[in-house]
Amino acid sequence: MTALGHLINGARVDRQGRSQDLYNPSTGEVKGQVSLASKATVEEAIAAAQAAFPAWRNTPPAKRARVMFRFKQLLEEHAEEIVRLIGEEHGKISHDAQGELARGIENVEYACGAPELLKGEHSKNTGPGIDSWSEHQPLGVVAGITPFNFPAMVPLWMYPMAIACGNTFVLKPSERDPTSALFIAELALEAGLPAGVLNVVNGDKEAVDTLLDDARVQAVSFVGSTPIAEYIYSRASANGKRCQALGGAKNHAIVMPDADMENVVNSLTGAAFGSSGERCMALSVAVAVGDEAADTLIAKMQESMATLKVGPFSDKSNDFGPVITKAHQEKVCGYIASAAEQGATLVVDGRDVQVEGYEGGFYVGGTLIDNVTPEMTCYREEIFGPVLLVMRVDSMEEAMRLIDEHEYGNGTCIYTRDGEAARYFSDNILVGMVGINVPLPVPVSYHSFGGWKRSLFGDLSAYGPDAVRFYTRRKTVTQRWPSAGVREGVQFSFPS
Ligand code: NAD
Repeated sequence: MTALGHLINGARVDRQGRSQDLYNPSTGEVKGQVSLASKATVEEAIAAAQAAFPAWRNTPPAKRARVMFRFKQLLEEHAEEIVRLIGEEHGKISHDAQGELARGIENVEYACGAPELLKGEHSKNTGPGIDSWSEHQPLGVVAGITPFNFPAMVPLWMYPMAIACGNTFVLKPSERDPTSALFIAELALEAGLPAGVLNVVNGDKEAVDTLLDDARVQAVSFVGSTPIAEYIYSRASANGKRCQALGGAKNHAIVMPDADMENVVNSLTGAAFGSSGERCMALSVAVAVGDEAADTLIAKMQESMATLKVGPFSDKSNDFGPVITKAHQEKVCGYIASAAEQGATLVVDGRDVQVEGYEGGFYVGGTLIDNVTPEMTCYREEIFGPVLLVMRVDSMEEAMRLIDEHEYGNGTCIYTRDGEAARYFSDNILVGMVGINVPLPVPVSYHSFGGWKRSLFGDLSAYGPDAVRFYTRRKTVTQRWPSAGVREGVQFSFPS
C-alpha cells in the first residue's frame, strides 16, 4: 500500500519519510497509510503558495468567484464518493456525512459572492478635491489546520473564502482521516485554481510547527481541541502572524419546567448522540430546572435511547457509528467509569455495546448519566463521545451560573415556552452561539461561527463575514489630484 501523499503546486506528490496507519473505525482494520510531511515538504508547499500569490492576487475577484461556482458544481457531482470517503475513515453514517458536505458547500456558495463582499468603502470630498477609500487586500500565504471530526466541512470553512479573497493556501488536514480533504482539494484544482493556489500537506506536529514558524505564512486558521488551539495561537502570534484558533466545547442545554418534553427528548437524542457525540456543537450536558423536569427527562430519554442503533457507517439505518480510534474509545469509556466512581448515576451505560459482525470496531453506545456535579471529571472535561450528562438545579439562574463558570463557551441552548426567560438567557449567557429551542445552533454560512472563552483564541470567528475580515487587511487610500500641481505650499499642521 502506498501512503497517501500531498498536493503541492497542482500535483499529487509522494515523498519518502514517516507515515502512519489509517483505520476504518467501523471495522477496526487498517485501511492504508498517510505520509507525515517533513519540514522540507511543508516548505515546498509554502514556496508553491508564495510563488502563486502575485498572479492570483491580481486575478479579478469575479474570475476567482467563477472557480468557486464550478467547484460547488463538482462537489455536488462527487457527493456520493465524498460521503463514502468520509464514512470509511471517520465512521460517520452516510446521512450525517451528506449533511456535513452540504454545510461545507454552503461555504463555497458564500465565497462565490467574493466580488460583492470585497467591495470597499468610498468617501468623496473628505477634503477639498480629496477622495478617500478603504479596500480589502489579501494577506498572502494562509495556512489551515483542521480536526478529524468534520474532515470535509472544516477545510471548506477556510480555503474557499481565503482563496476567493485572493490569498493562496496550505491546508494540513487531520492525519486521522485525510482522504476526503485531499480528494476535495483536487476538485478545487479541477474547477480551475491555478497550480500553487491550494496545497495540501498531510502530517502531524512537525508539519504544523513548520507552518507556524515560517515567515512566509501570514495567517493561520485552526480548528481542534483547546490545548492545541491555545498552543497554535500562542506560537503563531508570537511569530507575528494573524491567528484564529477554535477549540473544544462543553455545550449545555437548559431544560425549563415548562419545556415541551417530547421536543426536548427528540432534540437531545440527536444532538447528544449524533455523530457519536464527536461534534464541537454536540449537546453534552442537560441542566434540568427542578426535580420534576429532571425525572421526566430521564424517564423519556431512557425510552428514546432504547431504540438507538449504533453500527458501521455503511448501514444507513444506523443512528450513529463508531468513535474515531481505539484510544478514543478507551478514553470515552474511562470518562464513563470516572463518573460512576465519583458518585454520578449511570442510567444507560454504552460501554459494552456489541455490534454483530463488527466486533473490532471502535463502538461506544449511547450513555446517559444522572446526578452529575460540577467538580466531576466527566463534567469539567470534553468527552467527545455519545455521552449525555444530566445535572439538577433549582433555578434558571443556577443553570446559567453553571454555564458561565465552565471554561468552554462554544454553544448552548434553552428549552422553554417562556419568551421572556429565553430572551434573558440569550442576552446574558457567556457563550458564543445560542439556541432557543434549537439544539445545534450552528450559524449558517452567511453568519460566522465562533465560541467564547476557551473555545476560541483570537477575535474573529470562522467563515461568513468574519472570514472576509480575517483573510484580508484593510488599506485606506487618500487621494488628491491638484489641477495645476500642489498650490498651497508647505503646511505644518492638519488642515482644519
Ligand atoms: P486535535 O487538537 O487533536 O487536532 C487538530 C489538528 O491539530 C490536527 O490537524 C492535528 O494534526 C493537529 N495537532 C494535534 N496535536 C498537535 C500538536 N501537539 N502540535 C501541533 N499540531 C497538533 O483535535 P481533533 O481530535 O482532531 O478534533 C477534535 C477537537 O476539535 C474537539 O476538541 C472538538 O471540540 C474540536 N472542534 C472544535 C470546533 C470548533 O469550531 N470550535 C469544530 C470542530 C472540532
